[in-house]
Amino acid sequence: MKVQRHPLLSPDLGTQREVVSYHFGTPGTGKKIYIESSLHADELPGMLTAWQLRQHLTRLEQAGALRGEVVLVPVCNPIGLNQRLQQSFLGRFEMGSGENFNRNYADISGELIAAVEGKLTADADQNVALIRAEARRILEGKKPASELESLRLTLLTMLIDADVFLDLHCDWEAVMHVYTGTSVWPMVEPLARYLGSQASLISLECGGAPIDDASFQIWWKLRDHYGEAFPIPDGTACVTVELRGQSDIAYEHAQKDAQAILNYLTWLGVVDGEAPPMPALSYPATPLSGTVSLTAPVSGVIVHRVAVGSYVRAGDPVLDIVNPHSDEVTTLFAEVDGVVYQRHFIRFAHTGMDIARIAGAKALRTGKLLGA
Ligand SMILES: [Zn+2]
Repeated sequence: MKVQRHPLLSPDLGTQREVVSYHFGTPGTGKKIYIESSLHADELPGMLTAWQLRQHLTRLEQAGALRGEVVLVPVCNPIGLNQRLQQSFLGRFEMGSGENFNRNYADISGELIAAVEGKLTADADQNVALIRAEARRILEGKKPASELESLRLTLLTMLIDADVFLDLHCDWEAVMHVYTGTSVWPMVEPLARYLGSQASLISLECGGAPIDDASFQIWWKLRDHYGEAFPIPDGTACVTVELRGQSDIAYEHAQKDAQAILNYLTWLGVVDGEAPPMPALSYPATPLSGTVSLTAPVSGVIVHRVAVGSYVRAGDPVLDIVNPHSDEVTTLFAEVDGVVYQRHFIRFAHTGMDIARIAGAKALRTGKLLGA
C-alpha cells in the first residue's frame, strides 16, 4: 500500500488541509478502481466501510491477490468535516460559498474534444487510453481559485482514468440504493445485487454537475460529438452508492457492505478468486427521472405511515402532516407505484419541503433530477 498526500489550496493564513489516498496493487496490470467516501462530510457510513475495505485490501495485496489498482480515499472532504455551527455538524454545503460539495464540477468535455481532434482511431482501447491521458493533462493544468475548487480538482484528477468509480454517500433516512449511468447499468448491476440495493436509479446525467456526471459525461459527450466515426466506449462506470441513512452506522453494516464491494471487485477480476453468486434485486432499476417527491403543501408535524423501503401503490397514504392549532391532518399519498427509498430525518414540515421520495418505474421529469 502506498499513501499519497494531496495538499489543498490554503484558504487562510495558518490553515492547510489535505486529502489522503491509499493505493493498492500495481497500476497498468488490470482495471483501476477508485473509491471515495463522505464527499458530503456528514455522511459517515462510507467512512466506516472504507476503513473495513482498507484492512481487506491490505491483506489481499500482501497475499498477491490483487490485479490492477485500487485507490481508496476514506476521508475525501476535509473541508466539510471541519464545519460546525452551534454544535451542529454541517457537511453538505461549503459554508463560505453555500455550494453543495457534490455539485459544480468542471465539464472538460469541450477541451477534451479539441485535445483529441485528429488522434482518435478505429481501436477502442487506444481511444480510451488517449482520452484518459488528455483528460488527466487538462485537469492537471487547471489552477484552482479556491480551496473548494482545489478539492474538486484533486478528486476528479485522481478518478478520471478509473474503470470504476464508487462514490460512497448516504441519505437522511434511507434503504440501500444506487445512482448510475443508464449505459453502464449492466456493469453496475452486480454491485447493486451484492449490496442488496432496494432502488437503483439510472440516468444519462443527474444535472447540477455532481462528480459522477463530471466523470461520466466525457465519454458520452465525445460519442455525441463524433457519432459513428470512432469507437468510444464508456471509460468509467460511475456509481453513487447510498449506504442507507446517516444514522445507520454499525460494524455489521460496514462489514457487510465492504464484503459486497469486495465481491464486486472479484467479479470485476480485480480480486483473485471466484465471485460468489449474486442475490436477486428486490426491485429493478428505474429511471432517476421517475422518482417522485412528496412535498409538504402545509406546515406541521410529520408522522410517517410506512417504513422507509416500503413498496407503495399510487393512492396509498405515505405520511401525515398534523396541525396542532386547527386539528387538520393532511395526508400525502403516493402518486406512483414504487419504493419509498428515502426520507428526511426531520419530523417538522416546512411548507414546500421535500419530505420523502418514491422510485417509480416511469420517466416523468426532465432537467435537474437531484434535490439540493
Ligand atoms: Zn451525499
